[in-house]
Formats: sequence, structure tokens, C-alpha cells
Amino acid sequence: MKIKVQLSMVLNLDKCIGCHTCSIPCKNVWTNRKGAEYMWFNNVETKPGIGYPREWENQSQHKGGWILGKGGLRLKAGGRIHKASRIFHNPNLPVIDEYYEPWTYDYENLITAPRKRHQPSIHPRSQITGESMDIKWGPNWEDDLAGVCETGGRDVNFNGIDHAVYLSFKRVFMFYLPRMCEHCMNPACVASCPSGAMYKRDEDGIVLVDQERCRGWRHCVSGCPYKKVYFNWKTGRSEKCIFCYPRLEAGLTTLCAHSCVGRIRYVGVVLYDADRIHEAASAEADREVYPAHLDLFLDPSAPETIAAAKSQGIPDHVMAAARRSPVYLLAKTWKLALPLHPEFRTLPMVWYIPPLSPVESLAASEDIRTAVDNLRIPVKYLANLLTAGDEKPVRTALRRLAAIRAFMRSLRVEGRSDATIAASVGLDPDSILKMYDLLAIARLEDRFVIPTASHPDRSPLHTMQGCSGFPECR
Ligand code: SF4
Ligand code: SF4
Repeated sequence: MKIKVQLSMVLNLDKCIGCHTCSIPCKNVWTNRKGAEYMWFNNVETKPGIGYPREWENQSQHKGGWILGKGGLRLKAGGRIHKASRIFHNPNLPVIDEYYEPWTYDYENLITAPRKRHQPSIHPRSQITGESMDIKWGPNWEDDLAGVCETGGRDVNFNGIDHAVYLSFKRVFMFYLPRMCEHCMNPACVASCPSGAMYKRDEDGIVLVDQERCRGWRHCVSGCPYKKVYFNWKTGRSEKCIFCYPRLEAGLTTLCAHSCVGRIRYVGVVLYDADRIHEAASAEADREVYPAHLDLFLDPSAPETIAAAKSQGIPDHVMAAARRSPVYLLAKTWKLALPLHPEFRTLPMVWYIPPLSPVESLAASEDIRTAVDNLRIPVKYLANLLTAGDEKPVRTALRRLAAIRAFMRSLRVEGRSDATIAASVGLDPDSILKMYDLLAIARLEDRFVIPTASHPDRSPLHTMQGCSGFPECR
């Protein structure tokens, strides 16, 4: 057993309000540069929709990720030798229009336009060519379902669902999907890179691009099925989310997580067995990848894990953080969080709690099992997004979320702790109260449990000053 430490994130889609606050500090700090205008390491998409870049989930078009063929696991677009033979021609690369041509506005015109009867207006100008342009796409083009009546039919998550019904006014549904690099355990971007410039950090699993070694072949861009590596046209090198590692090393959480208005993001470490990655990524059926991936997570409180970690030199403060990890609790213990498109076989490490909606029908329902089937968002759609079409884990997560609400209602309104609600979803009242605490109260110190790399004895920021310095934010 080879124990590795992975920094990872869980996003509670039930609480995302689509405010895009997470994207802004990330943009301001990491991609506010020439050549990076079109890059959004973090962007928030509306589902249903085809996203940014357009149809990123459709791997028959983009050929990202891994597939299980006769000879075993291989990159969908071909291995390194295949890529080296076609190094000057990459037909699977998205073009700029599939992301969007970055633009600014002709602000000067507002103050320099000659006096006329009407107020002056401003026109969009390309940040690449400087020419006047028509805006045709963007990182949140389908915000709040804008234009989805036209594009929604191309959303692959409608596979097996009559999308026309759900895109009609009466049955329409929506939720937000904030997206970033998944810092995968089996990253296709790293395996695709002919120069060896992409690597996964040994100490915490963060996937990075060595800017000195990158030669700009861009096979990482096409190889990533989540399309979260970007090519900087100014520097001629690839760039991607760095999981804010300079902040993490100081015990701070990522910018997107810290700024999240809905308190939907959880950051923590997970320990896993690196010797079994290939086995998990090679699970026979697509829907077997998620359980095999989950099986790699090691219990940080188990004596055999503690002994193995000690013998392999994993520091005590990392083990302590792993035992308090909200990610482990949400993904492994309670099975509320699920991976995004496990069928891409990269073993992604940014997981999602499925959204539960609408609340009204749930409140009216006596039976949590029926309520989940009557929710507005089809379970099948969520299963196509999160579990390769397997509805069972999605139902388990949704029922548990529904049980928290029903249990807390019985506690607060009727003044009794209804153990039958907890039992109906395989839990006890104590676990439900803990879930409520982590998901609804969501204190800063519970959401972010980060072992500091450089100062193991230093306390994380929240114990020093609280969120933004305001104690009430904690
Ligand atoms: S999501 Fe991130 S780590 Fe995974 S393949 Fe894409 S760029 Fe690499
Ligand atoms: S800041 Fe939080 S709530 Fe707002 S869009 Fe981002 S993830 Fe969602």
C-alpha cells in the first residue's frame, strides 16, 4: 500500500446561488494578464447547458480523458507515441470561438464622442485583434438558462431523457455547476504531455504545469476531458488552476472557496492508496469507476492506515487534518458527494453534492423516497452528470439531504427527535445533526481543514483572525 495525500474539494450544489463571486478573485489574482483574457480557472455554468468551452462534456467531439479498450486503459486521443508522431497537428484542440473571443468595450467613446441628440454608446472590441466584434459566446453564456432552448438539446446529460420535455416552460429545471480543474488522481493532461511539463505534486496531489519545460504542444488542452488547461497565446505555454497552492502552504484556503457567498465549498485532504489507481481507473463498466474510486480512499482513523502512514513519513499534522477532513466525511462516510463524470476515468478530486429541488414538494411529501423521485430535476440527469448514469448513489445522496430537512423540521417544529427519519436513510440522529452542522451552519473552521506545508505548527488563518477579520463570519 502506497499512501498518498490529495488536497480536494467538495461543492454543495444544493446551495450554489450562481453569483460568480468565486470566479472573480480567481480571475483577478491568476489570469488577469495578457494572453490569459479568455481563461477562467473557475467558471460557473448553468445546467442544463453545453458550457465553456462549448460541449466540453462531449468526448466523441473533444476526445479527452481515458477509455478502456481491448489493450486496457488508454488515452482517448491516443498515447504519447501516437501524439509525438502528430505533434504539429492536433485535430482535437478546441478553437477560440468554442471558449469565446475575449473582448473589452470602447469606453473612450463615452467621453470623446461628439455632442449628439442621443447618449453615446460603447461597442465590444476584441482583446486579441482590437477590432469591433459581435459577442457570440462566453464562460457563462447560458446563465440562468439563457438560450438553452437552442443549445440544451446538445447537453450530453440528457442521454436517455426526453430533453424536449424538460426544456419546455412547464417542466424546465436548472441549477448551477461551478467548475475548476479536478486535480485528478489519474490526470489525462499529465499523461498527454509530450514534454513532461505537467506533473502531480507528490506532497498534496495538486496538478501543475512547469512553465520552464512547457513547449506549447497543447496536448494537455485536448487531453483534459474537463477542458481546464488553457493555452496562453502570449507566452506560448499552457496554464491551469494551481489550487491556490501558495495560499494553501500558508494554511489558507483557495480564493474560490474563501470568497464563496453560499458557503458551498469544502476543502480538505484525503489519503488514498496510489498502488491501486490503475485498477480503479480500469474498472470494467463506466458506472463501476465511482465505487472503485471511492474504495481508494483510506480511513485516516484506521490503525493500519496510521501505521502505514507513519512508516511512509506522512507527518502527524497531515494525518490530523485527514481525520478532520470535511471531504472524507461528505464523500466517503456519508456518501453525499459524488465525482463529476467518473466515466472519463481520470479519477477527479473535486466532488459535488447533488442539488435537491424544489423544497416545496418535499415539504408536502410524507415519504422521503417518493419525494426524491418527484423532484423537479430528473435523477437520471444528475446520474449522467455524477455517476456515469447509475441512479442509486444519487438517490442515496438526495434522500439523505431530504432526511436532514425532515429531521430538523421534526426537531424544530414538533420538538421531537424523529429517529425513524434517520433510520429510513441508514443513519442515526447524531449523524443527521452532524450533517446539518457541516452543511447548513457550515463554519469556516469546519469547511476548510488544511495542513500547512511550510509551517506545520502554525495555526490556520481562521484561528488567528477569522474570515475577512470579522469574527461573525466564522
Ligand atoms: S481536470 Fe485538471 S488534473 Fe484532471 S485532466 Fe484536466 S487539467 Fe488535468
Ligand atoms: S461563490 Fe459560491 S455560491 Fe457563488 S457561484 Fe461561486 S460557488 Fe456558487
